[in-house]
Amino acid sequence: MTRSTISRRAVVHAGLAASAALVAGCATTAAKPRVVVLGGGWGGLGAARTLARSGKVEVTLVEANDAFMSCPLSAHYIAGLQPATDFQRNYAAIDAMGIRRVRERASAIDRSGSAVVTPGGRLPYDFLVLSPGIEYMEEAVSGYAEARAQLPVGFRAFEQSAVRAQVERFLANGGSFVISVPKPPYRCPPAPYERACLIAEQVRRRGVKGKVIVVDTNPNPMPPPTAKPLVAAMRSYAAELEYLPSTDLSAVDIGRRRLTTTMGDVPFTEANLVLPMRAPALIRQAGLGERWAAIKLPSFVSQADEKIYVIGDAQGTPLPKSGHVAFGTGVQVGHDIVRRVSGEAAPAASGPVSLPPGLCWASASHDKAIMISVGATVAPGEAPKMSFQIDPEANTASSQGATAWGRTMWKNMLG
Ligand SMILES: Cc1cc2nc3c(=O)[nH]c(=O)nc-3n(C[C@H](O)[C@H](O)[C@H](O)COP(=O)(O)OP(=O)(O)OC[C@H]3O[C@@H](n4cnc5c(N)ncnc54)[C@H](O)[C@@H]3O)c2cc1C
Repeated sequence: MTRSTISRRAVVHAGLAASAALVAGCATTAAKPRVVVLGGGWGGLGAARTLARSGKVEVTLVEANDAFMSCPLSAHYIAGLQPATDFQRNYAAIDAMGIRRVRERASAIDRSGSAVVTPGGRLPYDFLVLSPGIEYMEEAVSGYAEARAQLPVGFRAFEQSAVRAQVERFLANGGSFVISVPKPPYRCPPAPYERACLIAEQVRRRGVKGKVIVVDTNPNPMPPPTAKPLVAAMRSYAAELEYLPSTDLSAVDIGRRRLTTTMGDVPFTEANLVLPMRAPALIRQAGLGERWAAIKLPSFVSQADEKIYVIGDAQGTPLPKSGHVAFGTGVQVGHDIVRRVSGEAAPAASGPVSLPPGLCWASASHDKAIMISVGATVAPGEAPKMSFQIDPEANTASSQGATAWGRTMWKNMLG
């Protein structure tokens, strides 16, 4: 359905003016503006908490899971080095903040009716923050859909346990453990190499007769500024890990346990195929973008709808698909919504403005990691500019830094 931008803007502005009047004028009797946050992961929690703290809006968090599990740092669980509980938290702190938590999977966004649709009903909103993460592009690898149950990707919360089971089988029986890497953009580009290194470390420690094989579509580890330390990390497992760059994966034959690649067939005992990714289907179905949601910077407001913000990995700017960025962006859009319902003008931007920074960790072993720090700015009408600061090699200080960072972030989100 096409709708006139002008009339939609007019409606939005009228609605915002009304919201502002409610807050400024008859705040004691009027209902607060309603904000629905879809996704209780890194981005959604940043937004929900900021909004709830303001006391100026009613916040509903729609999250399909009843608890949180971190993808960052969970490679240590996958490799059998730490329990899953180290990376899990419950939502008690969110409930205690007065945030209404709806434990359901949203099926659609009804933009004309300003409501999120769930199996239990409709959740009306004045503003909507979408942070639903990613979905896998299964059609990119022929034969994957039929093999899905045996080939978990493990790049979303709670999927890690299925990959851990694969790793345990491999470490017990040996053979080859193949990890494939897609072309960016995908969630946390260094993560597949980190996973490979931590499994290779276990192959060495336990004397397993087996090898980890990384089938990488890219010519070098991603993102490009991390290539040197990540190649060095993989080379440190010369006997346990084989790196195949510039190798495209097209098909998997689960019966014969073979991958079809541009470098020939690659047999596997276990395979962790990291598929290409895109924003979840409800973003496309709501007309908010194609592969990723189209948003405006620096606001993260949808290009198609002034009432909707899209943050985290589902948004389509070149910013890193990182939890640190997602959380920081959630905080930023939370403040922006509070500003809008309060009727305050947007700050005037004359030059470049800073965007939420990123911080990623790629472990090369259980006690050595590479820190990847990303700064970003955007000038009006231009693409964002990024600057990287990366450890020249894996080191123990960054491994300790990663652990401390994780604890701090999870406390900020759910403490
Ligand atoms: C192995 C690995 C290592 C990583 N390491 C780092 C790191 O070191 N540093 C870093 O900053 N980032 C890292 N990341 C990236 C980080 O995990 C993501 O960038 C971050 O999770 C993105 O946040 P998000 O809010 O977009 O999505 P998520 O955190 O995935 O949250 C999305 C939430 O939405 C819910 N949801 C989705 N659809 C629906 C629906 N229809 N209805 C209801 N609920 C729904 C999901 O259940 C989920 O809880 C790593 C990722 C991986 C996989």
